[in-house]
This record gives sequence, structure tokens and C-alpha cells, in this order.
Amino acid sequence: MRVADMVLMVYNTLGRKKEKFVPLRDGEVRMYVCGPTVYDYVHIGNARAFVVADVVRRYLEYKGFKVKLVSNVTDIDDKTIRRANETGVSVQQLSEFFTEAYLEDMAKLNLKRPDVMPRATKHVPEMIEAVETLVEKGYAYQVDGDVYFDVSKFKGYGKLSGNRTEALQMGARIEVDPRKRNPADFVLWKSWKPGEPGWYSPWGKGRPGWHIECSTMAVKYLGETFDIHMGGKDLIFPHHENEIAQAEAATGKPFARYWLHNEWLTVEGDKMSKSLGNFVTVRDALKMCQPEVLRFFLISAHYRSPIDFNKENLRVAEGNLRRLLNAFERLEGLPERKVRCGDEEKLVSEVREAKQRFKEAMDDDFNTPAAISAAFSVAKAINSYVESNAEVESSAKQEVAETFRRFLDVFGVQLKPAEHGVDQAGLVKELVDLIVDLRQEMRERRDWKTADRIRDELRKLGITIEDTAEGTRWKIRRPN
Ligand SMILES: [Zn+2]
Repeated sequence: MRVADMVLMVYNTLGRKKEKFVPLRDGEVRMYVCGPTVYDYVHIGNARAFVVADVVRRYLEYKGFKVKLVSNVTDIDDKTIRRANETGVSVQQLSEFFTEAYLEDMAKLNLKRPDVMPRATKHVPEMIEAVETLVEKGYAYQVDGDVYFDVSKFKGYGKLSGNRTEALQMGARIEVDPRKRNPADFVLWKSWKPGEPGWYSPWGKGRPGWHIECSTMAVKYLGETFDIHMGGKDLIFPHHENEIAQAEAATGKPFARYWLHNEWLTVEGDKMSKSLGNFVTVRDALKMCQPEVLRFFLISAHYRSPIDFNKENLRVAEGNLRRLLNAFERLEGLPERKVRCGDEEKLVSEVREAKQRFKEAMDDDFNTPAAISAAFSVAKAINSYVESNAEVESSAKQEVAETFRRFLDVFGVQLKPAEHGVDQAGLVKELVDLIVDLRQEMRERRDWKTADRIRDELRKLGITIEDTAEGTRWKIRRPN
């Protein structure tokens, strides 16, 4: 196993400082990313969190770590129940529909599939067991079929979000329930209400709370203690604070060791919200740009900096991505020769220097803008080489191309021309329309021979044309 010699530093929300990253098991990283609640299409704020986690995963793999990534699907909670009841479908139908939509969107954004993608409804017995353990150990109490976590019993409560008392007050602002011992106590098990799915438990029929879903599935697939837990900044409190409390109270061991949180994404300067009407789904965004442009835009800011979604920023991201991919294509297009000259020595040394800067950037808490700037140095070196050379020596070409390809693989943007902007289906249509128009001109000039030849040649390519009173129609035959 090759683990790069340089030290990876990560900003750990737990402790609020950059720390040296050392995984629990040598050469292996186990990480958990809070997945979507599948009651609607994924919005670009969610997408930012998922893309950031994917880049972290890809860079850990670049460094030679074997990564196990678990990312859940929350298919039962208040939001899924409310939406299902509003739309008149079952919670299961609703969550299956939006889980499929989520998977399609993530595939478009070129996310690697998590190694495990547990669904909450498939893990209710384990969640009941986790709640039972907390009750037995005195960390949880039951009131009328609901079970609450008693935050005053867990000494570490507040250690992730910061001030413990502030956390408690925040809990109080959200909801004041006289049945709770402390305002910040949170629900582990919710008693059944008409119109809701329910499971049988020692406290009667009901369903798990959102927080216990994540910590239970994380422990099941990654162990009591694992390396990285990720999510958007909005999840620090109460979700992640509560995950820590539940897991550590039950196991007596540290839960996740490094907590990474990404900053907000705004839309034209405003925080995205349903009430402001500026809620942009991945699908809305993909009407404005290609998926790789959206992805490249999402990583163009450091994950701990805010990023603003607007047309201008998308345009800049598109231009930058195009410049990178064009440089790569120019290099790929150069014919090869056997002898190396001074220009290649210069090219290779500039690329090696850029590779070093790329690693330093990514080792510094996944600094993607600095890593992208290193990729631009490679593009610049290639472009200046191509200005004065019509050929390239094979091994130099291979080294430069390989370095560039690996950078782009960490960013998760593809290199095939078909996948970065040129709409192949659209291009085919335009080309055939052009040929059909030219053929029409020949017919008008009574050049039947050439017109027939074009028709026959097109037929050989699987395109049939038909001359009708309204003009010429064409279609692509399916291959037999
Ligand atoms: Zn979660």
C-alpha cells in the first residue's frame, strides 16, 4: 500500500482546529456522510455536501487509503410522513420515488456510490435495541410511549457545537415540551399517531427519531469508533451533537474522530429557503449548465467557505473547466516521437512542481481552489509547450497526461469530450439537418445523381430519409 508521505491536515469541528489526520487502522479510512431525507428532489445545498464528501473520498483514495463510505437514506421522518399525506401516496412510495431521483442526480454529478447506503426503515430493530440500551443505562426515559434522551446525564453534551448552555437554550427555543426533563432533551422514539407508519417496540407502536437512525447505522457498518463523519454545517446542532450523545452514552467509546462540516451555499446572495422561493434543486441547476460544470462550480470554493450560486459563477466555472479540458485535449492530440528535447524537460519539471502543489493544497484541509490553481499551472505548461512544438516525446506525454488525469479524477470531472459540453445527440441532429438541406439544394438543381447518392450513403449509416410533400424527413434506424 502506498500512502503518500505528506501529512494530511483536516479541520475538526470537534476541537475547532486543524489536526493531523491519522486513521484508526493503518491505510484504511471509514467515513459516514449524512444522506438525504427523501421527501423531495435534492437541492444544490445538499449536493454541495455530497460532492464535498465525494472529493474527500477521492483524495483519500488518491493518497492510497482504502476508503469505506457509508451514507444513509432517511426514508422515515416527519417530513416524509407530512409530504406523503399531502400528496396522497404511501410513505414508502414517496421515499422510493425520491431515492431513485437522488441516485440519478448523484450519478449525473459523477459521485462514486457509497459502499453501503442503508435505509432507515430497514434498520428499525437495531434502532430499538440502541434505544433500549440507553434506557437501561439511565440515559433515556419514557413518557407516554415517547422516549427521550436526557442530555443532563451525558457529560459531553455540547462538545461538538460549542457552548453547552447555548446548546441547551437552542433546544428550548425550538420546542418547549413539559414532558421533558430538560428543554434540550431530544426524542429517540416517537409514539404512533394515526396516518403514520409504525413498528412495535417495548414502548408501544411507534417509529425512531431522526438522530438515532444515523448513529445506529453508522455504528452498525463502521464500528463503535470510526474515522470521519461529514455533513453540512446546519447538521452540527442538534443532529450531530445528538448522534455523539446517543452513540457515546451507549458504547462508552468515542464515536467519530474527525467531524468535517461544509459551509452554506447561497443563491444570489441569499440563504436558500422555501419561503424565499429561491430553492434550487439539482434538476433546476442542470437546466442551466452541464453536470460537470455544476460539480466544478461546487468545488471551486473551499468547503469551509460560503459559495454563491449565480449565473456569473456558473459561467466562470464553465470557462475554467473548458480551459483545463482543452489543454488536456491539445496534449492528447500531439503526435508522439521518441527523442526528448529541452522543451519537454521544462514541461515535465513544471508539471512535477504543480503535482507537489496539488498535494500540498489538498493535504491542507482539502483546499480545492488551490488544487485547481495547480491544475491550471499544468494547463499553462501544456499550452506553452504546444505553441512551439508539433510533436511530443512519448514518456513525457504520458507523465503529464497521467498527472492531469489524476487531478481531474480527484475533482471528479470527466475527460471524454462527449461528456464535457458537446451535446452528441444535438450535434448529430444538426449535422444530418445540414446534409439534408444540401441534398435539397441539389434536387432543386436537378442533380438527382448526387442527391440519390447522399440518400444511399446515409442509409448505410442507419439514417433513412423520406421525401414528402412537406419536405424531407429523416430518422435514425435502430441497429438490428
Ligand atoms: Zn445524519
